[in-house]
Amino acid sequence: MSEQTKTICPYCGVGCGIAVTEDMRFAPWGDAPVNNGRICIKGGAAMEVVEHEDRLKTPQIRGEDGELHEATWDEAYDRVVSEMERIRDEHGPDAVGFFGCSKSMNEENYLLQKLARRYGTNNVDNCTRMCHASTVYALRRSLGAGAMTNSMQDLMESADVLWIQGANPAEQHPIANSVYFRQAVLDGATVIQVDPHANKTTRSFDIEGTERHQHLQVEPGTDIPLLNVVIKTVLENDWVDEEFVAERTDGIEDLAETLEDFDKEAAAETCGVPLEDIERAAEAYATAENAAIFTGMGMSQHTCGVDNVQNEINLALITGNLGRPGTGVNPLRGQNNVQGTCDVGAMPNTLPGYQNVEDDELRAAVEEVWGFEVPPEAGLTNVEISRAAGDTIHGLYVMGENPIMSEPDANRVAERLADLEFVVVQDIFPTDTVAYADVVLPATSWAERGGTVANTDRRVQLMRGIDKVYEDTKDDLEILAEIGTRLFGDGTFDFDGPEAVFEELRQVCPIYYGMTYELLGTEGLHWPCLELGDEGDPYLYESAFTTPDGLGHIEGVRHQPPKEVPDEEYPLILTTARLIEHYNTGTMSRRSPTLNRQHPENFVDVHPKDAERYDIADGETVTLRSRRGEIEVQVQVTDDIKEGTVWTTPHFAASSANRLTNDVLDERAKIPEYKAAAVAIEPSGGE
Ligand code: SF4
Repeated sequence: MSEQTKTICPYCGVGCGIAVTEDMRFAPWGDAPVNNGRICIKGGAAMEVVEHEDRLKTPQIRGEDGELHEATWDEAYDRVVSEMERIRDEHGPDAVGFFGCSKSMNEENYLLQKLARRYGTNNVDNCTRMCHASTVYALRRSLGAGAMTNSMQDLMESADVLWIQGANPAEQHPIANSVYFRQAVLDGATVIQVDPHANKTTRSFDIEGTERHQHLQVEPGTDIPLLNVVIKTVLENDWVDEEFVAERTDGIEDLAETLEDFDKEAAAETCGVPLEDIERAAEAYATAENAAIFTGMGMSQHTCGVDNVQNEINLALITGNLGRPGTGVNPLRGQNNVQGTCDVGAMPNTLPGYQNVEDDELRAAVEEVWGFEVPPEAGLTNVEISRAAGDTIHGLYVMGENPIMSEPDANRVAERLADLEFVVVQDIFPTDTVAYADVVLPATSWAERGGTVANTDRRVQLMRGIDKVYEDTKDDLEILAEIGTRLFGDGTFDFDGPEAVFEELRQVCPIYYGMTYELLGTEGLHWPCLELGDEGDPYLYESAFTTPDGLGHIEGVRHQPPKEVPDEEYPLILTTARLIEHYNTGTMSRRSPTLNRQHPENFVDVHPKDAERYDIADGETVTLRSRRGEIEVQVQVTDDIKEGTVWTTPHFAASSANRLTNDVLDERAKIPEYKAAAVAIEPSGGE
C-alpha cells in the first residue's frame, strides 16, 4: 500500500480528516477523530483541484500595457515591497487593507495579521465578516467566547432537542448532519428547524419510524419575532430555570419588560408560521433535559444579526441550556479554518486570542513578544475597506479571498477595486479578483503544506502536506515571511516553518498557549488550552461564563425588518444560500469536475404562485433584478420556497446573487445583509 499523508478537508468547518496518497489521490482516513473515515462529496473530490491545469504556477506583474506578465519571485517581491513602502510614505499605513484567508492555516493568517500590524495598521479582516461576525460579537459579549459552546460529540450523545435556525447542515456541514445530528435523532432527539426554505436538512430528518422533526418555515428576516414568541411562551408557562437564571445570568428583567406588551398572535402572523406550531416547538425546547441551538448564516447575515443571535442566547440562558453536554448556542462555521483565522487575530479589533486591540494592557503584552508597537485603535472591516477603496484606501493585500464575488453589491466592489493604486493577490487559482491585481503570487494548495486549522467546534488539528505540484509556487507562510523580512528587515518575520510560527502564536494567544504540535497529535485539542498539558474543553462555561463578571448576559430585542422590503417596483424578497456541491465563490468547487457536474449553472427557486403571477415556466431563463444589478438564471418552480420569496446562490460569477445583494451592515458587527434584498423577476427578454 502506498504511503498516505493524513490531513484535513479544505472545505467546510466540520474538519473531517482525509488522507492523500503518494500518487495524489484521495483516500479515507479510517479513524480520523471527527468523521471516522466518512466523507461528503466535496471532501471526496478535494484532490481534483490540486493538480488542476488552471493553477497559478508562476508570479505575475501587471505591465505598462495593462496585461499581467510572468515574473520571477524576486521581481514580484520587489514590486510588492516598493509599492507598499510608497503607499505608506504617501498616504500612511492605514491606506492599505489586508484580507486574510479562512482556507489558509492558522500560522499563515497569524503572519498576515502580524504583517498588517507591523506595517502600522489594524486594517486586517477575514471572511468571518461575511458569515458569522454578528454571531461572534453576540457570543463574546454575552457569554465570553466567540465560538461553539459545545462539541459535536457531546451534542450527539446528550442533546434531546436540536434547534437549528438559519442553517442547512445537510448541505453546508454534511458530515455533521449525517453523522452527528441524524444519530442523535435516531437515538430519540427532536429537531426543530427554522428556515424560510425547505431544503436537504428538512428532508434528512424524515426518518422512517421517527416523527420528531418540525420545520417552522418563517418569512425571511423574522427570526426575532419567532424567538420572542418562543421566549414569551417559556415565560408564560414557568419553564424558566429559576436557579440558573438567579445564579448565572443578568438581564432577565429587561427581557420580560421587552415582551410585556408583545402580541404573540401578531408576531406569528409576521413570521408566517401558525402560533400553535411555534408554541409546540417552544415546549419541546424548554422542557427537554438538554436542548442545543445551532445557528447559521440565516441568522447572522442580517442588519440585526447581533440581535438575532442574542435572542438565541436569551432562550438558552433562561432555560438553563448552557454549561453542560448537549446544550449551548453553536454556530456552524463555514470554512475549514474560519474559526482559526479569527482565533489568531486576523480581525481589525482583536489581537490573537480575541484580545481587544484597544486594551492597552493586552496590547502591551503582545507588543513585548513581537518587539514593535501595534496601532491602538481598531481598523476597518473588509466591507469598510472595499467601500473606502480609491478614497482613503489605496492598496490591498488579498490572501486567498475573492472580494469581487464574495462581497455584497459586487458590481460596486469591482468598480471600487479598479480605483486602487496597487493590489496584490496571493492565491492558488486566477479568481475574478486577479483581474484587478498588479502582482499575483502563486501559492501552494491546501494539500501541499502543513500547519494547523480550527474547526467549527474549536478543535485545533494538524494538516500535513505532500510535495508541491508546481515548482514555482510557494506556501503562503513562506511568501508572507519573505515580504515581512524584505519590508522590515528586523527579524520579526524570521521563521523556520509553520511550527516555529505556532510556537510564537502560543506566546500571544492565551487560548492556544497549552498546545504544541506534539500535543495536538492526530486527535487535536479543543481550545481553550491555557496551560501545557491542558486537555481542552469540549464544552464551555460549566461553572461560569467568561464575561468580565462571569455572568451570562440576557437582553431583550425587538423585531427589525430587513433594510429593504418588497415594494411595487421590487415586489419579491431575495434570500441566498449555498449548495452542497459548491463552495462560496466556486474558486475550487467549480473547477472540480465531480462537483461542477452536479450544478454547472446557477438557478433561482420560485414558488408556483409567483411563477403563475409573473408568467414564468419551470426551466425558463429569467432576469432577476435589484436596485444594484441584474442576473439571468434558470427558474426552478418549487414549493420549497414561500410565496413572495426567491432563493439563489453566490457560486457563479456572471449570475452571482451578490450582484443583487445589499451591502447595508449590522451596525456593531459590520456584517452585510446577504439574506434579504428586494428584487423583481421577469422572463428574459420581457419588459
Ligand atoms: Fe469536508 Fe465538510 Fe464534507 Fe467533512 S463535511 S468532508 S469537512 S466538506
